[in-house]
Amino acid sequence: MEEMPIRKELLEILACPACDDRPSVEIKDGAIHCPECGRLYPIENGVPIMLVDKAKMPEKPSGQGE
Ligand SMILES: [Zn+2]
Repeated sequence: MEEMPIRKELLEILACPACDDRPSVEIKDGAIHCPECGRLYPIENGVPIMLVDKAKMPEKPSGQGE
């Protein structure tokens, strides 16, 4: 069995806070992955940190400050 860092029921109620249509997310590489924007939200002690500030972007466009 594959180890799940968080419960599946919890994952199902999570949504990406960065996307307007609040897409459901998935687990990827031990983090929460949004398939819409590609952000990766960390999981700390089994708790998903659904904060845009904490999310890792898949790519960083140069010279674009937010
Ligand atoms: Zn997103």
